[in-house]
Amino acid sequence: MSFASDVRGELARTPMEDACCARSELTAALLCANAITWRGRKRYAVTLTASEASTVRRYFAMLKRFYGIIGQIRALSGDTLNNQTRYQLVIPEEEAYGLLQALELLEEGALFDLRTLPVDETVRYSCCKKAFVRAAFTLCGAISHPDRDYHIEIAAPNEALAGFIVQQLNAFEIEARVSLRKSKYVVYLKRAEDISDMLSLLGAGKAMMAFENVRVKKEVSNRVNRQLNCDNSNINRSMNAAEAQIRDIRYIDAELGLDKLPRTLRDMAYTRANNPEMPLAELGELMDPPLGKSGVNARLRRISAIAEKLRCGDEVRL
Ligand SMILES: [Zn+2]
Repeated sequence: MSFASDVRGELARTPMEDACCARSELTAALLCANAITWRGRKRYAVTLTASEASTVRRYFAMLKRFYGIIGQIRALSGDTLNNQTRYQLVIPEEEAYGLLQALELLEEGALFDLRTLPVDETVRYSCCKKAFVRAAFTLCGAISHPDRDYHIEIAAPNEALAGFIVQQLNAFEIEARVSLRKSKYVVYLKRAEDISDMLSLLGAGKAMMAFENVRVKKEVSNRVNRQLNCDNSNINRSMNAAEAQIRDIRYIDAELGLDKLPRTLRDMAYTRANNPEMPLAELGELMDPPLGKSGVNARLRRISAIAEKLRCGDEVRL
């Protein structure tokens, strides 16, 4: 079982108590899964296709409980290329029009009289906003295992719906981006904290804990690696002093930018970098105002100390 299917499984088991949220979840499911087909005036077919049996069972139960509709569940065996079984929930054709009316998805004059986006009322309460995102993720979402990558996404079938999903996330201060991929508008998050927030928003508390555990382990091992790099840099002490100074100056330039250094240190760094072989006393004569050998030495030591702190990931105060 992948992490993504664990999350979908957990979402399929979240309680469904409120009619307002059921309506929002069903609306999102039908829109995200492209479940509605026009069959002629006031005639529609509604068929929801999902990768997990638990998903179609959830919507079966929801339709029965809140709309009195008994759907039909069937399994589609995978084709030769993709050997994955998919599951469908078919709404009886005589019930489809009434359901779309109840969800307020019909609008005279629109293409096939169908709205692209739900009416505002559908996501009026924050519980319903969450429910909307939950269904969108369940039907069109993917999440990477945190061992591999921090990534969660919802691939919406059109740009308007992607924007609508972003709005729902923004209501909970989760910032998402959208990119176009193979004719889908993909809403995605990359920051670990945002992914964690989104999992708990959806109601996947168990998956959120599993995600956090991996994340903490990864952060500890990153810190250990940084420490190792830092120890390695001590070994390099054997190189001669001038070489080490130049290496430190280059490192500061790459990590911080030499211009961030106080003026006295910055001038010293540039002078040393331009004169890699020069003895300290002569370097001091090039400075403005001129500096004795011990003054040059003191500044070069301060520069090396800054490089050392940067390497070890410590805070640098300038
Ligand atoms: Zn609600």
